[in-house]
Amino acid sequence: MRIATRSRRLAESSTLAVAARAKALAAEGRPVIAFAAGEPDFDTPAPIRAAAIEGLHRGLTRYAPTAGTPEARHAVAAKLARENGIACDPAGVTITVGAKHAIYLAVQCLVEPGDEVILPTPAWVSYAPIVELAGGTVVEVPSSAASAWQIDPAAIEAAITPRTSLLLLNSPCNPTGATTPPRRLRELAAMLSAHPQVTILSDEIYEKLVYPEIDPDAAFLSIGSCPEVAERTITVNGLSKAYAMTGWRIGYAAACGAGAEAIREMVKLQGQMTNGIPTFTMPAICEALLHRAAEVEAMRRAFAARALRVTELLGTIDRLRLAPPSGAFYAFPSIDGCLGRVTRGGRRIGGATDFAEALLDEALVAVVPGDGFGRGGEGCIRLSFACSDAEIEEGLGRLRGFVESLA
Ligand code: PMP
Ligand code: GLU
Repeated sequence: MRIATRSRRLAESSTLAVAARAKALAAEGRPVIAFAAGEPDFDTPAPIRAAAIEGLHRGLTRYAPTAGTPEARHAVAAKLARENGIACDPAGVTITVGAKHAIYLAVQCLVEPGDEVILPTPAWVSYAPIVELAGGTVVEVPSSAASAWQIDPAAIEAAITPRTSLLLLNSPCNPTGATTPPRRLRELAAMLSAHPQVTILSDEIYEKLVYPEIDPDAAFLSIGSCPEVAERTITVNGLSKAYAMTGWRIGYAAACGAGAEAIREMVKLQGQMTNGIPTFTMPAICEALLHRAAEVEAMRRAFAARALRVTELLGTIDRLRLAPPSGAFYAFPSIDGCLGRVTRGGRRIGGATDFAEALLDEALVAVVPGDGFGRGGEGCIRLSFACSDAEIEEGLGRLRGFVESLA
């Protein structure tokens, strides 16, 4: 069978691949510790599950409107107005098959072949393939651990050309755990007022996971609330991370004023691609966004405690260096101090992929190599600490043993 070039060229998602490998080893009975996929280990809060079950009992089993039911779109618009300072109409909202789908739709609708898309890196593994599938060219703007992985508005401005159509932002950031300070986002918005051709896609999936316990200055701001860019920002978010709902596949995208045109385009594509998400989950969206802040905060506190513990434990491993995560649930230490060394099993560590493979084979600890996250990430590994305290203790103990045994 002839496979299309764009599919052949598409890289597999390394986050999903590592997670699948860890699950396969666990299924064989191997005691693997998976710091692989960014997926909360909590259960979806019971009232949210109950709302979907009740939806099924009420017979919500037929197609939903492509962009979501009016109630669910309204709940998203109300949440954005109340919590984010984004005043969009429910007509400027679409509910998608996870945040990933929202990003895919937005990029397909905004990027022409040959356009440049600015991506501050290290960045989540799926952005670049999504841009490339639309025929866009990714222009990376790398940050460094030395600057706590912070984005630099001046470096972003230097990357803008007449062909730039989109800027992708993600704070708190997967994989670095960095949270962009509100002050810096406002600077960025002010800078972008001189570049009206640039649309902003702000991926806010980790909005609720910010840890002032680690960095007292860490705070969340939606760039879409800044007046300079309010009508050219697509805000993407979803229920996967904050509400422990990864398997439900619920995301959304929203834009204000003239920006709602982009949402209408996305809904058109969505109608040709997937339709609306399962109808009986719509009441669960309302339940989550309107009534379940306390459950989210309880999970946030648990993640904050884990972030502190992971930071403390990684700090005891001399050959690793970490900029402590102030958001999301990822630690992104540099393994530069291990390069050129040899494992007990006789493998030479030439880079993060060698490190991650040897760690999995020899110590049964799954981490994602930093290479897939773009420039700046090459010498790092990503550990997701969305797992139990016991796994953190055991897994980091094994990581320490592995690193210290390198000759
Ligand atoms: N954006 C980022 C930064 C992510 O880490 C992820 C991973 N889940 C997504 C988007 C996609 O989220 P969803 O599960 O809602 O598709
Ligand atoms: N976003 C999560 C991660 O980075 C889940 C897997 C994925 O969709 O990439 O691990």
